[in-house]
Amino acid sequence: MPLCTMRQMVDHARKKKYGVGAYNVNNMEQIQAIMAAAKETQSPVIIQASKGALEYTNLIYLKHLMAAAVEENPELPICVHLDHGPNLKTCQEAIALGFTSVMIDGSIDYDTKTPEGKHPARSFADNVRVTKEVVDYAHQFGVSVEGELGTLGGIEDETHTDKVLLTEPSQVEEFVKTTGVDALALAIGTSHGAYKFKHEPVLAMDLITECRKRAPDTAFVMHGSSSVPQELVAEVNKYGGKMPNAMGVPIASIQEAVRRGIQKINVDTDGRMAITAAIRKVFMEKPGEFDPRKYLGPARDALQALIASKMRDFGTAGHAGDYRVKSLRAMKSFYAKH
Ligand SMILES: [Zn+2]
Repeated sequence: MPLCTMRQMVDHARKKKYGVGAYNVNNMEQIQAIMAAAKETQSPVIIQASKGALEYTNLIYLKHLMAAAVEENPELPICVHLDHGPNLKTCQEAIALGFTSVMIDGSIDYDTKTPEGKHPARSFADNVRVTKEVVDYAHQFGVSVEGELGTLGGIEDETHTDKVLLTEPSQVEEFVKTTGVDALALAIGTSHGAYKFKHEPVLAMDLITECRKRAPDTAFVMHGSSSVPQELVAEVNKYGGKMPNAMGVPIASIQEAVRRGIQKINVDTDGRMAITAAIRKVFMEKPGEFDPRKYLGPARDALQALIASKMRDFGTAGHAGDYRVKSLRAMKSFYAKH
């Protein structure tokens, strides 16, 4: 089976009302854990890499790890997606590398910095212009594109902005029509990182419903959707970690968001925590251990268990065999007609 595009995956998820998780990867153990979870639960899966991940893996390693995931799991729909693409050039690099989906985060100007060292938010018109440029380029290859309206708070690789702005529903229709994006990241109050909220978060759920009415055929994406489970924070801290108590997005809120129209759910922080807790445990309990397999192996197992539970909670489980994956060439002619 060839790599699947994000468009095909989220179209199916929109029709059948489930969410597809997009999980960040930087190394072999993360990719193996995610693929093992997808296989275990028979789920379509989006593995995504940020610009930071591309730099960390020196591109070529990531390319071959993706190829290994496909070769090992020919029966699973797998999409490889660029997370928070900062500009056309990085999106072009990802497409050349074989990614089947890219995000252009046109809501932030990553190439400029304010005196405080943050990236300024872009105007609507500039966001439209930058996003459309990437859509026009990517669709020639059959590759899907995610855009963003509004800005998300918090810290992710390279994602520091000076403002947090919720998506304005009245802009959604024009944005989607003018740019031709396949998916749109909505800013509904979630933020990146482990320190999201001190209390149970209030997310702008009505905003999803509102946006859904204005763009019925576009997929919606929720960023910063780790739940930061308290058991996981306790686990990290039990073995010498120093994570403050904070809250993420409860699973019930994600499920409600899916019912209201979200299809792609980005999760990174929870995976980082599962890996860190497992490695800390080995280091604390067996200080004499110095074989990397003896702590990276348990980290991989912990990540697999975490992601398999998310695939069940998001409703992705069991959908792997629902459709035949279309090739990039088929998607290319699809875009030529639309
Ligand atoms: Zn994000």
